[in-house]
Amino acid sequence: MQVSSGRSSGQRAEAREAALAQAVRRGLLGPQHPLIGLLDVDGVLDAVEALNSAFDGPATVQHTFAAKACGLVPVLSLLADAGMGCEVASPGELEQALAAGFTHDRLVFDSPAKTVEELEYALAHGVAFNIDNFQELARVDGLLAGRRPAGPVGIRVNPQVGAGAIGAMSTATDTSKFGVALRDPGAEEAVVEAFASRPWLNRLHAHVGSQGCPLPLIAEGIRVAYDLAERINAEAGRQQITGLDIGGGLPVNFDDEDDRPTYADHVAELRSAAPGLFDGRYTLVTEFGRSLLAKSGTVASLVEYTKSAGGRRIAVTHAGAQVATRTVFMPDAWPLRVGVLDAKGRPKSGPTEVTDVAGPCCFAGDLTAQARELPPVEPGDVVALYDTGAYYFSSHFSYNSLPRPAIYGYRTDTAGRVRFALVRTAQTIREVVEESGLELAGALVQLRSGTAAGAAGGAAADPSDG
Ligand SMILES: *Cc1c(COP(=O)(O)O)cnc(C)c1O
Repeated sequence: MQVSSGRSSGQRAEAREAALAQAVRRGLLGPQHPLIGLLDVDGVLDAVEALNSAFDGPATVQHTFAAKACGLVPVLSLLADAGMGCEVASPGELEQALAAGFTHDRLVFDSPAKTVEELEYALAHGVAFNIDNFQELARVDGLLAGRRPAGPVGIRVNPQVGAGAIGAMSTATDTSKFGVALRDPGAEEAVVEAFASRPWLNRLHAHVGSQGCPLPLIAEGIRVAYDLAERINAEAGRQQITGLDIGGGLPVNFDDEDDRPTYADHVAELRSAAPGLFDGRYTLVTEFGRSLLAKSGTVASLVEYTKSAGGRRIAVTHAGAQVATRTVFMPDAWPLRVGVLDAKGRPKSGPTEVTDVAGPCCFAGDLTAQARELPPVEPGDVVALYDTGAYYFSSHFSYNSLPRPAIYGYRTDTAGRVRFALVRTAQTIREVVEESGLELAGALVQLRSGTAAGAAGGAAADPSDG
């Protein structure tokens, strides 16, 4: 199957194979660095291109990348350079996006828990944002005090079209925490009234769900938002809503190499559910995350030991819940393809054995794959977790105080040569200790002995002061 640049998904897999072998050969992955992440730069750019060509008008489209899927500044910078905008939902993501070069007009701010300070920032800088609920709307009214916002402001609605296969990823259930629940008694009228009395409100936002949501369900949710926009504009007697933010959530195929469903599949579904969406009256905003990066990322770990328990083969690796948190805690919802490579980073084959792939965390469930048919694994081999480009590199779980691994981007040329670029340095053990309160080491001992004030170093040590 083709990805947009003409590179097939098979060629993407070949490039990944070359990168893994070179990473071992050059010592990026080895006894000193037993865990790394690898990101295929061309794969990311191919996905951006596929996205752009799927949404080919006549509507103007602003594609933003959902920063939470990979909050790494060089990755955000690559996407900014490729013409994308960025969807952020926390002060950290906002600062990462700014550091990556996104200008304020290319941001969308979506947190469900925006503070006064965050709203003031968005209003002052013309950052587009979507109001989650009526309390937030009242807060924005207060901050504006009669002025008009500099950037677009929308209301997020929950079309309540139901759940996909993964409850935690389904944002349009009856009781979802996000947006105004449109089918609740009086809610739709209240949204219509909110627009009628605030001429500056000019967007509607609906993000129906992520992994596990079928395309028709997502399209149905967007259709509900579109219909509401049409109603609001009709009642206003003008095009008050000029932008429809249709969220992200294209599911990713974790079973094999193929990109499916494609952005084109998604757009076809949207066009049939709401044909008017694309006719140019609305600027469309998208917020895709996982589908832009997942297939381009690989987590690779050295195998430290192999053993057997109760007849089950176990490969003990350095990739566990700290990088593959969802996979470890919800293995049925987030299964990953696993590759076994030899000590030179070359794919192993041969008769398979039923094997568990374990991580380093000290709890029994720390398994990235269970009872999987894999070629025999030996110490010094490499285990690769495929399709981990989104949500695995930057959603680290600091269990057992395990450090965040280095991430490298790579490109391969037609001759098979691989070039790497460091995207994030591996966290050092010193940094782990520092972020664990190192500078406050004596705080509790001093509190107990009653000598705390001043001794431990001022305000940080005694926030109750004053
Ligand atoms: C997480 C999220 C996205 C991105 O979802 P993906 O499944 O990664 O595409 C987009 N919009 C909002 C509001 C989100 O919370």
